[in-house]
Amino acid sequence: MSILVVGSVALDTVKTPFGQAPEVLGGSATYFAAAASFFADVRLVAVVGEDFPDHHLEFLRARTVDLRGLQRVPGRTFRWAGEYGFDLNEARTLDTQLNVFADFAPKIPEEYRDSALVFLANIDPDLQREVLRQVRRPALVAADTMNYWIAGKGDSLRQTLRLVDTLLINDAETRQLAGEGNLVQAARKILTWGPRALVIKRGEYGALMFNGGDWFAAPALPLEVIRDPTGAGDCFAGGFIGYLANTMNFEDAGVRKAMIMGSVMASFNVEAFSLDRLRSLTYADIETRYRVFKRLAHFEAL
Ligand code: AMP
Repeated sequence: MSILVVGSVALDTVKTPFGQAPEVLGGSATYFAAAASFFADVRLVAVVGEDFPDHHLEFLRARTVDLRGLQRVPGRTFRWAGEYGFDLNEARTLDTQLNVFADFAPKIPEEYRDSALVFLANIDPDLQREVLRQVRRPALVAADTMNYWIAGKGDSLRQTLRLVDTLLINDAETRQLAGEGNLVQAARKILTWGPRALVIKRGEYGALMFNGGDWFAAPALPLEVIRDPTGAGDCFAGGFIGYLANTMNFEDAGVRKAMIMGSVMASFNVEAFSLDRLRSLTYADIETRYRVFKRLAHFEAL
């Protein structure tokens, strides 16, 4: 089944204790689309400027991402610069230049409107609802957001949440959104606002899911080499939603497998800067790592 993703396509400048990468391919929708493309057809709606290098589009096309909804307009592409210390769970934003993203008005092409799954990446919650107004009854609507929108557009975000089935956010965002320090109590509160499921991404500590009565903890892989955590959350979402689109199995066991697929895709992405690890990744690599996760988290009954 097809997935529609709407979000940022960016040129990122990233510094970590292990190196730096100036003006490389980034953006929440880019990471999501590339990760999800291993499992399902992905349709991208975003905007770039005239300066956006063609070879980045070729990479996405080679991953069979449908780019008919990608607008290229006069001006400069969205740019984000960030830095990480040894605690790779926390990015310090050094610079955000919205550029063409400032006037982004998502236009969903007619051919995308029947997408079975919709992922609203991190954009203005007003625009997230504008996307949902244009699509026809998707089987699943998932969304991400960030501290900027929680603080600045809380009311709009709460309206969007009423229309969302699955919310994927990190632990700090969960606490901030709920105004509650305890993660479980925060999750319970958010789940009264609309979403049926909440996935809390916790960086190197894995991800937690509250899905109706089913609670599940997916580990993160303890990796010896982590170069750049940028996009890990979006790759998690890409693996998670991509796998659900592939199987269309929304039963508890199917959603648990999707959580592990999210962890698998995030674990690959952090091994290199930008999306570089996804460039050489094969489906066989994904299957092998899924088995590593199975072993990592398996234990017997008492
Ligand atoms: P993540 O590390 O998964 O949270 O996502 C990182 C990506 O989000 C980077 O590639 C950035 O280009 C993108 N990004 C950063 N700030 C914003 C923002 N305000 N709106 C949209 N995308 C952003």
